[in-house]
Amino acid sequence: MNDTPKRPTVRMQPSRHKRVAHGHPWAYSNEIQMDATTKAVPPGSVVRLVTHNGAPLGCATFNPHTLIAARVLDQDPDATVDRAFLAGRLARAAALRERVVGRPFHRLVHAEADGLPALVVDRFGDVVVVQANSAGMDRLLPELLGALDDVLDPRAVVLRHDTPARGLEGLPSEVRVAKGEVEGPVAVEENGLAFFADPAGGQKTGWFYDQRDNRAFVAGLAAGARVLDVYSYNGGFAVTCAARGAASVVAVDRSEGALDNGRRAAEANGVAGRCEFRKADAFVELERMVEAGERFDVVISDPPAFVKSKKDLAAGARGYRKLARLSAAVTAPGGFLLLASCSHHMNPELFGEQVAAGLADARRTGRILRMAGAAPDHPVHPQLPESAYLKAWVLQVD
Ligand code: SAH
Repeated sequence: MNDTPKRPTVRMQPSRHKRVAHGHPWAYSNEIQMDATTKAVPPGSVVRLVTHNGAPLGCATFNPHTLIAARVLDQDPDATVDRAFLAGRLARAAALRERVVGRPFHRLVHAEADGLPALVVDRFGDVVVVQANSAGMDRLLPELLGALDDVLDPRAVVLRHDTPARGLEGLPSEVRVAKGEVEGPVAVEENGLAFFADPAGGQKTGWFYDQRDNRAFVAGLAAGARVLDVYSYNGGFAVTCAARGAASVVAVDRSEGALDNGRRAAEANGVAGRCEFRKADAFVELERMVEAGERFDVVISDPPAFVKSKKDLAAGARGYRKLARLSAAVTAPGGFLLLASCSHHMNPELFGEQVAAGLADARRTGRILRMAGAAPDHPVHPQLPESAYLKAWVLQVD
């Protein structure tokens, strides 16, 4: 259906359009001419975005009640945004994943970078997990589900609509199966190994594909090693290390469900005999290990985001520093340490300061071997470099 005739026009304030004109995908509410008509545009509408003088900038989804008010969908202000349009974007995203991952286990859509603002789609074979994180994407959901059928025809679709971002957009929090059935954990394949993820009940979409390449790198250092994987979740790092020849692996997490998925993965890959999945609080267990003099040749500390909003920055930074200290302390001399942060607000420079300070607090020295981010199925929009949220640094510790 062509929605062009009734598409509202949203005007930017004088000379506030330059960033968007240069390809930035967002217009903030304080850059928009918020007259009564614009304020009354229903949240999630597709609008024509124009400069103050009426020059077209593109078509965008619009929510008059959020800071990121307009999210550009296309440079053509009158582009038809329908099932076929969304299928085109999905097909382009799928072709990229086919090339960079090659297997149907990946992040299929990474929002703005894939031309689908605020949309995340993770693929687990014939099951897909969707997060529509703006009023605009939420409104387009029926067309999007149709487009997913056109491009992938998944057996099941789970809506993981319990994200904080949806709250900011005035959208309800819910987890719902939109197509087919999903009972418990689904199979994941990564780096040639078998894993299990719980799309409806796990963290985020059920699996963190962003660490795929970092898991492979660290596992490449793990032959014959004693490995500690803190915040192990479904055992992504732990089981990859065991499969690449680690002598023993201890995985620590506080979630019994996550540990069970890790145990299943260890069994499935024939390494259960060398893996222990231990339920504990990460800091408590690390402190106990430091006291007890337990040491590991490879240590992985990939925690949940310690900084969820800007106001947590100082406390979160202290958390990363403490984690770096304790993780370095349990790393045997000459061993390897992966420290990660997925907090958007923790920029690489600030993260680096915590890593360095934590190492010094532990009275250890070392060298950084690798400063990596997310795998390439999590591309970054060139105008949103700050959306490169993941820092995963690997050190050798003396
Ligand atoms: N490293 C994982 C991802 C970690 S997600 C991977 O490669 O996939 C964060 C994990 O930390 C979750 O499994 C959560 O259960 C666990 N977690 C959060 N707080 C914790 C705590 N205080 N102690 C132990 N585990 C914790």
